Amino acid sequence: MALTRVPTPGGPGPATWRTYFGPTALPFWAVHVLAIAGVVWLGLSWTGLLVAGISYFIRMFFVTGAYHRYFSHRTFKTSRAFQFFLALGAQTSAQKGVMWWSSHHRWHHKYSDQPPDVHSAKLRGFWYSHVGWFLGPDWSRTDESRVSDLARFPELRLLNRPSLQLMPALASLVVLWLIGGAWLALWGGFVATVLLWHGTFTINSLSHMFGSRKYATSDDSRNNWLLALLTMGEGWHNNHHHYQSSCNQGFHWWQIDVTYYILKGFEKVGLIWDVRRAPAHVIEGRPGDDVGGDVGGDDKAALVKAA
Ligand SMILES: [Zn+2]
Ligand SMILES: [Zn+2]
Repeated sequence: MALTRVPTPGGPGPATWRTYFGPTALPFWAVHVLAIAGVVWLGLSWTGLLVAGISYFIRMFFVTGAYHRYFSHRTFKTSRAFQFFLALGAQTSAQKGVMWWSSHHRWHHKYSDQPPDVHSAKLRGFWYSHVGWFLGPDWSRTDESRVSDLARFPELRLLNRPSLQLMPALASLVVLWLIGGAWLALWGGFVATVLLWHGTFTINSLSHMFGSRKYATSDDSRNNWLLALLTMGEGWHNNHHHYQSSCNQGFHWWQIDVTYYILKGFEKVGLIWDVRRAPAHVIEGRPGDDVGGDVGGDDKAALVKAA
């Protein structure tokens, strides 16, 4: 089997130990070990947990507002400069390049819970959908044909180079270290990054396993209020699979969606515009012209004003 490949119909072969613990997975587990060893060495502290929480939620905003709602689904438009800022912020989470992230995410929507799906908990189990697909060699390459709208920007292609994908995360770690030494690097960097990985990955695993299904989508996506709180709105995953191009994933006032509240603030001050929202008939589940929302990945609309 080739070490790397782009998504192909039929999906990857069975997971093996290399999927979870092979060379491509080692840095991920090393960060876990360093986080645990660091807490044992420097001691558990409430202030440390608070710092980790702040770092977690700042970067979770970029995961959901940038990687997901902007780059993967183009639910709003922005300037080229702010687009680059969003890409840098997203990649401080150590979840690879925005083009890599988006290409696989669009593939997930195209084949949700069918054999070619990148991370189907239904077909391949919890652990593969949670970390296996991310760690193993099956999906390590970016399929540029699915993100041709992003590939037009040289700065995004640069950030997506395997040798540079981790640079924003490493740079933020160095800044934390310079400001607050090993203690700040531990809590704001290592511990927060481990929590952020698993918080993000619950949407690929648990959000297709536990929760309610308001809409009869063709996949197993669920709405789960606890995951929505932990992921700043991503837990309304059944809503999202029902209508992917909506910037707000919480469709009702009681469906807390903090990412959307922040993006609404950005819209008010003019940082982003053309924010897309689900039409009323979609939210009510009635038939109409505009159902499903598109996944994106084509070139029919310019992403940024300056492009
Ligand atoms: Zn999904
Ligand atoms: Zn999505």
